[in-house]
Formats: sequence, structure tokens, C-alpha cells
Amino acid sequence: MKIAFVTPEVRPISKSGGLADYVQSLAGAISEMGNEVHVVTPDYSSSQEEADETINVNGLTLTFRRQQVGRWTAEKIGSAELFSRKDMYGYEDDYRRFAYFSKAAADHIMGNAYDIVHCNDWQTGYVPLLLKQSNSHTPVLYTIHNMEFQGNSAPEILDEIGISRSFFHMEGVEYYGKASAMKSGIVYSDSVVTVSPTYSREIQTPDHGFGMDGVIRKYSSKLSGILNGIDCRVWNPSSDAELRAWYGAESLEGKAQCKSALQREFSLPQVGRPLVAFIGRLWRQKGADILLDALKSVRGNFQLVVLGSGDRALVRRIEDMAASNPSIRAIMRFDEPLSHRIYAGADIFVMPSRFEPCGLGQMISMRYGTVPVVRKTGGLADTVTGFDAGTGEGNGFVFAENDPLELADALSEAVMTYGDKEKWKTLVQNCMNRDFSWQSSAQAYLRLYRTIGGRDSELS
Ligand code: ADP
Repeated sequence: MKIAFVTPEVRPISKSGGLADYVQSLAGAISEMGNEVHVVTPDYSSSQEEADETINVNGLTLTFRRQQVGRWTAEKIGSAELFSRKDMYGYEDDYRRFAYFSKAAADHIMGNAYDIVHCNDWQTGYVPLLLKQSNSHTPVLYTIHNMEFQGNSAPEILDEIGISRSFFHMEGVEYYGKASAMKSGIVYSDSVVTVSPTYSREIQTPDHGFGMDGVIRKYSSKLSGILNGIDCRVWNPSSDAELRAWYGAESLEGKAQCKSALQREFSLPQVGRPLVAFIGRLWRQKGADILLDALKSVRGNFQLVVLGSGDRALVRRIEDMAASNPSIRAIMRFDEPLSHRIYAGADIFVMPSRFEPCGLGQMISMRYGTVPVVRKTGGLADTVTGFDAGTGEGNGFVFAENDPLELADALSEAVMTYGDKEKWKTLVQNCMNRDFSWQSSAQAYLRLYRTIGGRDSELS
């Protein structure tokens, strides 16, 4: 099969979050299975290289540059005006930047005989509609990585990228008087996938649907959830170049050395306490505020390292907390190499997300034998099951509500269990023995590609 991924980000070309890892890993796995993969993505650099092709969208010239990245081909779409900016997102005209990107991507797809198109998040949501409007029969799969961001805007954007106003109605792209890229992706694609099975159910409820739950319920027959994997070559405690010592589930001595090295790096005393870590965007979704509120109620002694960047007020709160507590360290920046050392050196990884479409942190931490404490939501609910000290089954500690006291209880239980060396070892090994590779997820996507490839889609 010849497959086009359309995505606002992909490693190693660009990255702001888990989506970039997702496309890199899935594109790699699908091409290793014998398929031809092209990744259509914005060029955020200010490259002056000569373009392979250009295309005009509403009077603006966009360039195409092709680049081979391992087994797959990147089709980079550039425009100094739209994409050569300091950050990838966060501008008032984001809806317009990615609408133009979607139009250029759809034109590329129309001219290149793909068997399947795989779009990702609202930034690509107009692609399925643009294709169907041009009578393309290429099946389109649309993956929702986060329902919170929807690319809703004034409807004039449709005119700018050549979408007929005949699609601007309640059953089409209209959403409370606005045009919605997310709704377009849901309505006009042949299959909608979320990045975990639980999240596919949650977005059908008002609590997690961000206003789109009614639309999702209407299209639930084409909705499914496929859990992401992690790149087990990048995240590997037995070969990770960032680590002081290597280790595996049967030889955990190296993990103790990683912990000592991390404690030295942050001048934390080497006493027999568990080291708890939080790594993530400091954004309401991730619940770092719930963690701060929980800390004073946790029973037992522990050390805490927080690595994150984002919301200014939250950064200040975490820094204040660290300044007044000698067992807490705050590193307020994005630092991937350091994240490897923390995943390996910590004992407990805390992820109190308000919602979590899939979540990579809990899977990476388990791979490094660091036991997760998570809220039961989305992909966290699908990957972490509570440890049962009686049977020795389970791989973490789970709490249900967005409540600091519930988190404190779960953390207290983790800290207490850490005190029982035999039980803790069982738990660590349960984490490390779980398979989080992309293999089975990539197979599930391939099956879906075949299913939607086997039938002609109708224009609604
Ligand atoms: P999201 O994509 O919603 O941010 P995920 O859990 O899916 O959340 O992916 C987050 C990824 O980004 C993980 O690989 C995590 O290790 C990494 N990450 C988040 N914050 C930081 C940080 N401050 N420094 C280094 N890596 C980080």
C-alpha cells in the first residue's frame, strides 16, 4: 500500500509533544511491514533551498520539498509567512495557517495516487472534506490525539481554501456558527481513531467531549481506539546512552546506580526513600496542580523531582514549593536527555492527568521499571492496573477522581509498598515485562487501512 500521513508534526523534523513520536514510530513500523509511506508535514524552518514544486493557495505560494527520512519520505510544505515562526503553535491565525497547509496537502494527495490517507488532529481536519469535494475515492482515516483543540474559526476560512459553503450546515462543518476543522475530520473521514480505547468512549460524554460529544456519538459506528506504543529502541534501559548504568528486569543493580547518579545530580541525600518523578507539560490537563495540593497529605517520606515547562503561574508554584522543601527539586524546562535519566533513576512516576488520550510517560516509566501512580482515565486506565499485594499482579497504583486526597492515598500506598523490597521487585518486574512496542498497534492500523480500503466512501 502507498500511504500518506498528514500531520502538523513528526520527529525528527519537528516536535512539540507525543504526536511527533507517534507519527515517527507508526510511519517507521508501517514502512518496515513493506508499505510505501509519505509524511506530509509543515516545514517550520526558514529553509532557502530550492523547492521541488510550488502551489498557489488563495494567492499565497507554498513550496514542497522532499526529504528521505530512513524508510519514509517527508513531503515538507513551506511558506515563510505561515510557518517560519518562533513556535509551532499558539498564534491567533493558527486556524488559517493549518487550513492552507491542509489545502496544499489535499492537492498533493490528489496528484499522487495514494491508497490510504491518514490525517492527525484538527490541523489536518479539512483534508478529508477537500478530498471528497474533489470526488477523490481515496479512503481517509482520521486520528484524534486531543479533543480539546478543534480549530474552530469564522466560516470565511472555507472560502479561502476553496471549500464550498454548501458544506456549512449542521450536518457538515458548521459548529455553533463557526467552521470547525475537528468536526470536518470526524464527519468526512471513513474511520475515526483515538489513541486509546477508553478515550474513544470518554469523548462521547460531555465531561471529555469538549462540546463535540454529540457529533462523536453520531459517528460512533466508525469510531475505534488503538493504544499507542513507544519506540522501544529509543526508550531502552539496557542500551540508553544517557544512563550511568544499564539494566533489565532480571538485573536491576543498574537501576540503583541510576538512582544514585540522579540524586547526586540534584544534590538529594542518598537515604532509603523512594524517589518520585513528574515529567510533563505544565498545563491543566496534566494535573500538576493536583499533585502540589496532594503533597502535604502523603504519608511516609519520599523525594520528588519535577521536570516540566508551560503555565507561568504553575511554574512559580512548583519553584516555591521546591525552595521551601529540601526533598523537592524543580527543573522548569524541556530537556529530553534529562528525562531519560529521571525515568531510569526514579522509583515512582506520578501522572494525575484530568484527561489523557493515551499518555507516553506512564509507558516509558514502566519500561524503565519506575512504577506509575495514575488517575484512571483514557490511556492511563488502559495501561495501568492496580497492584494486588496478595496475588502479586498489577503494575501500578490507580485513583479515580480529580481529588488531591485520592492522589495522596495512592502515593502513600506506593511509598508504603516500596518499603517491602520483595513486593516492590515483583511490581518493578511486572512493569518491565509488559510489551509496549508499536508492533501490535501498527498491525491494528494496517487492518483498518485494509477495511476502509475495501469499500468506497460516500459523500455525506
Ligand atoms: P502530551 O503529548 O500530551 O504532552 P504524552 O505523555 O503523550 O503527553 O507525551 C509527552 C512526551 O513529552 C513524553 O515523551 C515526555 O517524556 C515528554 N516530555 C514532556 N515534558 C517534558 C520535559 N519538560 N522535558 C522532556 N521531555 C518532556
